[in-house]
Amino acid sequence: MPANVNGAIRGKHAVVTGGARGIGLGIAQALAERGASVSIVSRSPASDGDERFFRAAADVANEVQVTGALAACRLKYGPIAILVNNAGIAESAPVTRTSLRLWQRTLATNLTGTFLCTRAVLDEMRAAGWGRILNVASTAGLSGAAYVAAYCASKHGVVGFTRAVAAELEGTGITANAICPGYTDTEMMRSALDNVVKYAGVDEAAARQRLARSNPQGRIATVAEVAAAAMHLIESTRTGEALIVPVSS
Ligand code: NDP
Repeated sequence: MPANVNGAIRGKHAVVTGGARGIGLGIAQALAERGASVSIVSRSPASDGDERFFRAAADVANEVQVTGALAACRLKYGPIAILVNNAGIAESAPVTRTSLRLWQRTLATNLTGTFLCTRAVLDEMRAAGWGRILNVASTAGLSGAAYVAAYCASKHGVVGFTRAVAAELEGTGITANAICPGYTDTEMMRSALDNVVKYAGVDEAAARQRLARSNPQGRIATVAEVAAAAMHLIESTRTGEALIVPVSS
């Protein structure tokens, strides 16, 4: 029996994009603990031995691959009731050194991927009269940050897309929300740390402090805190929100 059985999640099929590591893995584990059947979709969803998850390979920016991967997930666990759009990339560069390829890669993964996966599941959620879309945006989706223009633009887009979907689906039983984490301890944050060390000429401890200070809470967030906020929104009937996480304590 899962530890935290919850009526909103138990027995539902949840798909988490980018669920093989980092924040996505934390969310996938939290959903499984609450009794969901969880599918993970990412480009290389290698098994880490956790048999709870069904794994399907797709680049979320590729429409054909998304269609194929979600079809495989449905074959395994049935209609998708919960979609967590978490897959994302973050590369930094000043605007003048942001190549068109970096720009397009970032928008394609973070924003177009969120659109493609969301569009692909709405019909089955409508048919069920219940659904949860949870998009992992960022504090960079709510305010600007230097040297990450493409990432910021993509995450602002995710927040706008979330609000539009929520408005369109009002009264259907389907909610759409975004969570907006600050820097969170994952592989993605590792590269941000490396950049601060490299370009600001400080040691790793000082770099961590800089990243922590730029978070609304003044500290680095943990995957568990972000996953807890995601569960909170999925279990609620709130919609159209862009919630900064972790919530200040
Ligand atoms: P990680 O780099 O640790 O994990 C990213 C995941 O996304 C991986 O599983 C990766 O798998 C998958 N992914 C990347 N590109 C694609 C793609 N094109 N198609 C399918 N899957 C893809 O990142 P985090 O866990 O840190 O980040 C998760 C989300 O949280 C992202 O959207 C990120 O922007 C957001 N976020 C992270 C913060 C942080 O400080 N860590 C802060 C705020 C927001 P694979 O490579 O196999 O495809």
